[in-house]
Amino acid sequence: MDEPAQTDSGIPLIDFHTHRDGSTVDKLLEFAKERGVKIGIIEHAGTKENKYPVVLSNDDELKAFIASLEGKPVYKGIQAEWLDWASCFSKDAVAQLDYVLTDAMTCRNTDGSRVKMWEPAFKMPDDAQKFMDGYADFYVEIMATEPIDIMGNAMWLPAQIEKNYDAMWTEPRMRKVIDAALKYSTAIEISASFKVPRLPFLKLAKEAGVKFSFGSNGRGAGVAKLEYSLEMAKVLGLTRADIFTPAPAGKKPIQMRK
Ligand SMILES: [Zn+2]
Repeated sequence: MDEPAQTDSGIPLIDFHTHRDGSTVDKLLEFAKERGVKIGIIEHAGTKENKYPVVLSNDDELKAFIASLEGKPVYKGIQAEWLDWASCFSKDAVAQLDYVLTDAMTCRNTDGSRVKMWEPAFKMPDDAQKFMDGYADFYVEIMATEPIDIMGNAMWLPAQIEKNYDAMWTEPRMRKVIDAALKYSTAIEISASFKVPRLPFLKLAKEAGVKFSFGSNGRGAGVAKLEYSLEMAKVLGLTRADIFTPAPAGKKPIQMRK
């Protein structure tokens, strides 16, 4: 695969979070090329209880997705859904991917069922501080139990509490997430679409030695738009050493973790 272009400080320009939804790989590559960015294409993966345009749910579907990207100058990944996604696939099939990304935007409802926090079905509990304690713990749980490479959309908050962002992501909660990212070698995505994590978190995470990836969460013309990610990289003074690289064969979380 071609080497990606780099920033002045040697950071490879890679958008590890793009979706093919309603577009073609070649079309995404056109946008990526225009912006001088290499892309990783991910498909949602997990049980069919997760509702997305495409949800890969078994080895055959996963292998067909990987085959559809064969020969294209892109990284191949999945956006893993919920806590049971790994049970859908063999380790060998997952290890054929360059990486696994997940996020914490689907959480447990009060009855334990899964709920997408960006949809109207999600009702914010009255006690937002208590919710946040649980949300920080949920990040830790995901990293502790799931063989993932990247925590995508990291530190995103639902609209109901976003205006109090700094009072929600207190330092102890941020440190919990950072400690888990270090302990489980999980990279933190700097999301250009959601503009998260914000600077206070990023500073603490960088100091602690967490690795970062960039992601647009883009579809179509939205791919490879990394303005916020690159701006934060500049402000933080990130170098190549701070940046996520897909683990080599044999060393992927799915092979090392369970
Ligand atoms: Zn996504």
